[in-house]
Amino acid sequence: MPYVPIAQHFYSQPDEVELVKVKLFKQVAYYCLCLHLLFIFAFWYSHVYILSIANIASVAAWATGIYLLNRGHSHLALRVFCVEVTGHSVLVCATLGMDYGFQYYLWTIACMLLLDMKLKLRLAIVLSLSMIVLFALLYELYSTVNTPFMLQEYARSIHFINVFVCGLPMIYVIGHVRESTFIQRRQLAKLAARDPLTNLFNRRYAKELILRAHSSCAHNGQSLCVVMADLDHFKQINDQLGHDMGDEVLQTVSDILREHVTDQDIAVRWGGEEFLLVLVDCTQEEALIRIETLRQTLEKQRFNGEELTATMSFGVALWHTALPFSVTLQLADDALYTSKAQGRNRVTAAHTN
Ligand code: GH3
Ligand code: MG
Ligand code: MG
Repeated sequence: MPYVPIAQHFYSQPDEVELVKVKLFKQVAYYCLCLHLLFIFAFWYSHVYILSIANIASVAAWATGIYLLNRGHSHLALRVFCVEVTGHSVLVCATLGMDYGFQYYLWTIACMLLLDMKLKLRLAIVLSLSMIVLFALLYELYSTVNTPFMLQEYARSIHFINVFVCGLPMIYVIGHVRESTFIQRRQLAKLAARDPLTNLFNRRYAKELILRAHSSCAHNGQSLCVVMADLDHFKQINDQLGHDMGDEVLQTVSDILREHVTDQDIAVRWGGEEFLLVLVDCTQEEALIRIETLRQTLEKQRFNGEELTATMSFGVALWHTALPFSVTLQLADDALYTSKAQGRNRVTAAHTN
């Protein structure tokens, strides 16, 4: 397999919006293929043989487009659809006039062209605009055409149906693309905020949350505590049982941390096997009791069947609202260091006065 640089590999993967788009194009393509099949018979029945034959070509074009979509050539397929729709609209308007509303398909295709991500935006806009200009031109050229036609008395109904049929895929596709763009934006926001292994907040994102929690507590006269936690002898777990087991421990520990914080609190993977908790509306005494419970829960947890245990050391500091975060963090870190120095698997309160 040829070497593909990671960045290039990433960008060559069809993203979710692209997959949704291809799925929708396929649905629209089947819908148009059936429509043109119907037109073959309708025009034949009405003795407009040229349009009946043109619709056979249209069916072939839509079938080709579906084939291209199935083969992963969505951009080529879209171009085939554009040529088909443009040709078909112009031909029907030139043959029957403007009363039947076949010109509105140009609006639909103008919207679809904007979704062709292989086209540069400027080119896509120019092509879309030319569809709209062509739409206006058709009125200039064929407004007076009024070929006698068997279904002429149904002109208003056909016009109405065409407006509806053109509008439906436009609304359907744009609505779905909007939805998947929205979902993707939410996923990106989540990715930017969370650590992928543990699903806890990552350090960069958490800093803003922490400062917000701090000002809210300062405003409400509530106390809050900062807890630094670090797994004990974690390197040994990696060295003896492998990195995967290490990851499993990190995930389970994160679950336990999550279970021991409230919705207001902030749990962060601060880095490696180090975690930070910000306990909101919590005094240092309360924090010490809560963290001791957490420590005991972790101590009882078994990994790798029954044979492995993991412990954590903690440092707990009360955050005086007048102090900056960095100072409190340092105090919690010093307390953690004391826990480590005194034999690990313990909770130490920082001296904040
Ligand atoms: P101490 O009790 O003094 O904290 O000892 P320790 O072994 O826990 O600390 P040390 O800093 O020596 O080792 C931390 C280890 O954590 C080293 C690193 O490979 C491991 N580590 C960091 N991030 C990850 C991770 O995402 N997954 C795994 N499996 N290991 C990780
Ligand atoms: Mg450690
Ligand atoms: Mg560490």
